[in-house]
Amino acid sequence: MKSVLITGASRGIGASMAELFAKSGYHVIINYSKSQDAALALCRKISEGGGSAECISADVSKTDDVTQMMSKLPAFSPDILINNAGVSHYGLLQDMTDAEYDRVMSINVKGTFNLCRAVLPRMISKKAGCIINISSIWGRRGGACETVYSASKAAVIGLTLALAKEVGPSGITVNCICPGVIGTDMLSSFSEEEKAALAGDTPLMRLGLPHDVAAAAIFFAENRFITGQILDVSGGFSL
Ligand code: NAP
Repeated sequence: MKSVLITGASRGIGASMAELFAKSGYHVIINYSKSQDAALALCRKISEGGGSAECISADVSKTDDVTQMMSKLPAFSPDILINNAGVSHYGLLQDMTDAEYDRVMSINVKGTFNLCRAVLPRMISKKAGCIINISSIWGRRGGACETVYSASKAAVIGLTLALAKEVGPSGITVNCICPGVIGTDMLSSFSEEEKAALAGDTPLMRLGLPHDVAAAAIFFAENRFITGQILDVSGGFSL
């Protein structure tokens, strides 16, 4: 059975990916940082539904946490890594503190780097593997009042393109998904009116569902000749 490590899988898009990969026959490793109850409940739900899952905590921005998490996994696991853990920050650039900047960059960019660095020796030794990074349409277009978040997600795109070239000869694919506006806790600071306006600006006239992103991740996981691709899952918002 192939294994998939999904960071930030306690809630939102990551949790939906965990459910879809489990249904598709993968062993799912659910990483979380703070939401232990939600991660354990998801793990139970998957197991009760006949799937295979386990939970492991680690703050992806902390190298020691990631090293410890990897030491708990079998030698050749995971087959697939999904760098999904992420945080946003909404506000004017000139009002951002150093701590707010560091939090966004360290989780979104260093977290992605930390996990790639941790899994690559295992994937290279097998000459197979798949890495899927979750960026954002703001990483391509830039979002006002989300400048540092946009910069962090642009960095994830750059890392994807470069790493795809670097590890392609080892049989490892590296791709990136750019979600549009997806209905998760990440939108909790938006009012219902703001969400309706965002849906209205989307050609498909709705916000995305976590499952929409999960379906794109399965597509990348199951294709062995696509690498270095950046795929918008945005209902056309980015057109
Ligand atoms: P969410 O509902 O807020 O969930 C975020 C997840 O990330 C949680 O499971 C959280 O786990 C985890 N996380 C946060 N900091 C972490 C850390 N330091 N270490 C490990 N896990 C951490 O967000 P979402 O909407 O599902 O977003 C998932 C990804 O999609 C993010 O990368 C986000 O930037 C991207 N995205 C989302 C949207 C959107 O509209 N929702 C749009 C574009 C891109 P804990 O609760 O355990 O900390």
